[in-house]
Amino acid sequence: MNEVILLRYGEIFLKGKNYSFFENSLFKNIKYRLKDIDLKIEKISGRFLISEFAQEDKKNIINILKCIFGLVSISVAYEIDTSLENILETCKDIKIKAKTFKVETKRADKTFETQSYELSAKVGEVILKNNPKVSVDVHDPEEVVYIEVRQNGKTYIYYEKIMCLGGMPVGTSGKGMLLLSGGIDSPVAGFLMAKRGLRLNAIHFHSYPYTSEQAKQKVIDLANIIKKYTGNIRLFVVPFTKIQEEIHNKCDSEYMVILVRRFMMDIAERVAKQNECSALITGENLAQVASQTVASITVTNQMVKDIPVFRPLISFDKIEISKISEEIGAYETSVLPYEDCCSVFLPDNPVTHPKQEKLVKNESLLDRESLINDAISNIEIIDIKN
Ligand code: ATP
Ligand code: MG
Repeated sequence: MNEVILLRYGEIFLKGKNYSFFENSLFKNIKYRLKDIDLKIEKISGRFLISEFAQEDKKNIINILKCIFGLVSISVAYEIDTSLENILETCKDIKIKAKTFKVETKRADKTFETQSYELSAKVGEVILKNNPKVSVDVHDPEEVVYIEVRQNGKTYIYYEKIMCLGGMPVGTSGKGMLLLSGGIDSPVAGFLMAKRGLRLNAIHFHSYPYTSEQAKQKVIDLANIIKKYTGNIRLFVVPFTKIQEEIHNKCDSEYMVILVRRFMMDIAERVAKQNECSALITGENLAQVASQTVASITVTNQMVKDIPVFRPLISFDKIEISKISEEIGAYETSVLPYEDCCSVFLPDNPVTHPKQEKLVKNESLLDRESLINDAISNIEIIDIKN
């Protein structure tokens, strides 16, 4: 009797002509994430199957699978050759820990002669014989014994479904550029868009020495935390000091933040296009801070010409965002107290309703193109890999 892991993926989005594209992408993502562990992974109809792993790797394999978008649930199962005698013989040893149970049979192999209902009843009988204190409850059982008779001549028996994250396999929606700060929001935004199938690149604006080396390291650490969900991330670190100094020296102080954010969006779109990213992603959230009023978002959004900006957190409460951040293991790092470049030269009275003519006037005082080209040509690239 073999111990294996059964992997289930979403069935709704997999219908139709894109089926094999999604299935293959998911299979490839899983194989890559498990590449350092000795095991066999194969496709069996409508499922993936992992076998030939060492017991001591089992927990680690399950933990990795629980983070892979596109997987709905997994089960550790016993694999046996399909025959009625074999199934009954194996189920004889099952110990039910609860007071009530039921058997649920899925007969994917329609050539197997015993009907699902009949097989469940037979297995139930065998289990009851060895567990005299328990009873069957088909409506609300405390425990379920699952029997799957599949087309590969094998039957799988298991008790537990471990829920995974669902979503779409990373890469099936193309690639997006995440504006990644060291805060709570942007790692969560990246996580949520990767869940919809976007592979991530990330861009971070760094104002050394106004922001510290630790601030940059924090962003690298955050990318390393979310990579187990998002897959590998190419991180672009943009030197932003000169641009912020120029704005600080030449422009109206209450426009500082909004001008900085307009540069960020402009540069992010250019770097995105150079790297085949077809969307920007930010952690922006309506009305959280001065730069996140509708009016402010309007004028920062103006800088992006050809691609959409995804803001998956736009309607979330900070509490909701923090909860996800904790669940994905980013929170502790996100709240470390290193300053982001947005807080450099922060004015006392940042504008909440920026005026178009003031933006134009302020930006005319800057050599935007040369500042931007200079920043882009000095980008540092860091590959964050699983
Ligand atoms: P976060 O928690 O993600 O830092 P926030 O609530 O602090 O967000 P802002 O500082 O206004 O809000 O930033 C809004 C969004 O702009 C961020 O979620 C992020 O996508 C982007 N952003 C801010 N600072 C940077 C930076 N230094 N580099 C890259 N992107 C940034
Ligand atoms: Mg921030």
